Amino acid sequence: MVLAVQCPNAKCRKFMLVEDHDRNKVVSCLLCKTAIKVGGGGSPSGPPKSGVRPIPKK
Ligand SMILES: [Zn+2]
Repeated sequence: MVLAVQCPNAKCRKFMLVEDHDRNKVVSCLLCKTAIKVGGGGSPSGPPKSGVRPIPKK
């Protein structure tokens, strides 16, 4: 799995793909060498679960 990160440099803004194991690490932009913090963009926190959802029966 890969994650998409965007260079924070306003003059660059290059999108890059980094491997999943680089999550929470810092990578360098391929173009401007700006340090980019790789966040957990691949797993957005969903809405909070409220109770147990009943299983629909057929
Ligand atoms: Zn850059």
